Amino acid sequence: FFLTLEGIEGAGKSSAVPVLMEWCHQQGYAVEVTREPGGGPLGEALRPIFLDDRLQLGADEELLLLYAGRRNHWLTRIAPALAAGKVLISDRYEDSTYAYQGGGRGVPSARIAELARWTGITRQPDLTFWFDVPPELGAARIRARHPDRMEREDREFFTRARGVFAERCAAEPQRIARIDATQPLALVHDALRARLAVALTC
Ligand code: C5P
Repeated sequence: FFLTLEGIEGAGKSSAVPVLMEWCHQQGYAVEVTREPGGGPLGEALRPIFLDDRLQLGADEELLLLYAGRRNHWLTRIAPALAAGKVLISDRYEDSTYAYQGGGRGVPSARIAELARWTGITRQPDLTFWFDVPPELGAARIRARHPDRMEREDREFFTRARGVFAERCAAEPQRIARIDATQPLALVHDALRARLAVALTC
């Protein structure tokens, strides 16, 4: 079962990972957790390059790095885990590319789809949790956690990215479940467990 977690910065994806892992274990599922940018050995090696602001990467350069990493992520981690009947949880996946490089940086979605096809990445997640939070609240949470961290992008960037997540959720309501991530963590986590329980028994 292929599960992905998506959302803008400060939405609470990463803190949900251990909760989901523990719940899956309790239910008797074998679980693996990965992330993007990263996932496989190539993507993890590319991640610091991708995140290095000094390199001033353009959107197309980001896109090429992401799909090189994603192909490797798919081949080395996702496909083997799924073949072994495990639950594979990826903290970010392809929806982030449409939201960040597409919505955020203005790459046409057809260009992203072309690269996805070219790379052979056509398998969609079975379920995607979209942690929806207004950019202001996301930014405030990040500031509370890391008072010195510079925001990599401005508020408009995240507003556009959020808009893409919303569009994709509306287009694929079966796959993408919107989670109201403004709620207290305990309620967010209850919603995740409840939705995942339904998906795993279908
Ligand atoms: O999930 P996490 O917040 O750890 O992702 C690390 C960073 O990677 C994000 O802050 C975001 O700026 C960047 N990113 C990106 N484009 C993507 C995925 C992630 O710019 N498609």
